[in-house]
Amino acid sequence: MTVSGAAAKNTRDPGRKQRVAIVGGGTAGWMTASYLAAAFGDRIDVTVVESATVGTIGVGEATFSDIRHFFEFLRLKESDWMPACNATYKLAVRFENWREPGHHFYHPFEQMASVDGFPLSDWWLRYPTTSRFDKDCFVMASLCDAERSPRYLNGSLVDQGFVEQSTDDTSARSTMAEYQGAQIPYAYHFEAHLLAKFLTKYSTQRGVKHVVDNVVDVALDEHGFISHVRTAEHGDIAADLFVDCTGFRALLLNKALGEPFVSYQENLPNDSAVALQVPLDMDRKPLRPCTTATAQDAGWIWTIPLISRIGTGYVYASDYATPEEAERTLREFVGPEAADVPANHIRMRIGRSRRSWVKNCVGVGLASGFVEPLESTGIFFIHHAIEQMVKYFPAGRGDDLLREQYNRSVAHVMDGVREFLCLHYRGAKRVDNQYWKDTKTRVIPDSLEERLEIWQHKVPDTESIYPYYHGLPPYSYNCILLGTGGIELRHSPAVELADERAALAEFERIRVKAEKLVQELPTQNEYFAAMRANL
Ligand code: FAD
Repeated sequence: MTVSGAAAKNTRDPGRKQRVAIVGGGTAGWMTASYLAAAFGDRIDVTVVESATVGTIGVGEATFSDIRHFFEFLRLKESDWMPACNATYKLAVRFENWREPGHHFYHPFEQMASVDGFPLSDWWLRYPTTSRFDKDCFVMASLCDAERSPRYLNGSLVDQGFVEQSTDDTSARSTMAEYQGAQIPYAYHFEAHLLAKFLTKYSTQRGVKHVVDNVVDVALDEHGFISHVRTAEHGDIAADLFVDCTGFRALLLNKALGEPFVSYQENLPNDSAVALQVPLDMDRKPLRPCTTATAQDAGWIWTIPLISRIGTGYVYASDYATPEEAERTLREFVGPEAADVPANHIRMRIGRSRRSWVKNCVGVGLASGFVEPLESTGIFFIHHAIEQMVKYFPAGRGDDLLREQYNRSVAHVMDGVREFLCLHYRGAKRVDNQYWKDTKTRVIPDSLEERLEIWQHKVPDTESIYPYYHGLPPYSYNCILLGTGGIELRHSPAVELADERAALAEFERIRVKAEKLVQELPTQNEYFAAMRANL
């Protein structure tokens, strides 16, 4: 990933380094700056312009397990950044009440085993050892129920089969693109503004320039490329490549360059959120090692446990609830701890820019696209985008084919995640009000309609899920279908004929391993109390 030899030169002026201007200093802006700094060092010039008056979105605290590659690429160990960002571990998403009140299941970061060529879910449909497919098929579900940390107090990791990367300066660094298919056993929760602060320091120490100012104009040259952005107090900032990280505003990509936005709203109607930051006393409340998504009358509530607070919010469809109703529901859900906490109301733009890299401007983060945060894919989209950007960098004026390639890859990731999220609503068994009834008749992508037909006869596998990389393996689809419970599934006829003994032994192996780990591992509270005491 690093370049060798001389600085990356500008094609129009070969004596000068490539200049990159990143507009926006939220999670997207600083993840991009730090990744470019890690990839290219001082062989390129990077400037971040962020406004002191326009705030960041203020949410986005649960991640996808591939985020680990991001920190490894930056050569950061968990102990370097986790305490600074009040971070905790996330082993799964816990879905509550999607099937019926009181029911929960996990979508863990754990590949599902196959036995004699059939995924364990297929065996489970024929030989359900208990009523909990997630606990029968995955060790992580039991660790979540018991609120365990994925690490022992000495720092070693639960899954010894997973090789941790070295962070020394010259070893090769993995990227998610290279490791598609390898399952990292957990992701993280962190405070978004603390991560931005941490990455600001990381980037500026590595030569990234930081300008705090408002961009007030975007100037185009005679070919429609961006020549510079005008700031209120720091004059014009020229660059070869502009990265639009201005959030839902998409000031460069959509506004200045006029790139159309493709809405997913007809498939995914949740377009609003209200969020609260609730103080948490870690000594009194357990830190669940998972994000919880609790279904509600017009959407769902996220609960993200951090070291000193809980991040929570109600994602809802404004056609079914008003902001006042949503805030009331959220406050009732949280209880008296949130009484004095101000609410952050957010309008969400669901969908993606038709193209994310247009001429010399790449949109990253919310400026590029967003689906509701049900599976915590916003930061994953950012990570994927910057990995690809580095791969195609700098995609100069004559490189239309490289940009096309980039745009295809970004579109596939978002369109694939859209399908996966649609499955949650179509699959949810509950139909207790108009919102949930409508989820059964709402338009979903044609490709998903076809897949659903197939999945009722054969559980999802690599042949039948969305065919391009989008971060979600077949086992994830199995989890959502089996967990939400609204779509009747049949096991493969061949499972009936096959010898079940090895599959039953695998269920038993998972049960025994889970029981042992629950005994051995500390709780998240114990683990983080010890980690922080040793700082
Ligand atoms: P923002 O945070 O909006 O930052 C925009 C930046 O642009 C700011 O720095 C601002 O100052 C700057 N800016 C704007 N205008 C100007 C201007 N004129 N001049 C200079 N600077 C300017 N993702 C996850 O992965 N997990 C989650 O759990 C999750 N939850 C979410 C919940 C909700 C309700 C929403 C809406 C999103 C969630 N996301 C989540 C997505 C995640 O929040 C974003 O992907 C992430 O925060 C990146 O945001 P951003 O940096 O693109 O935009």
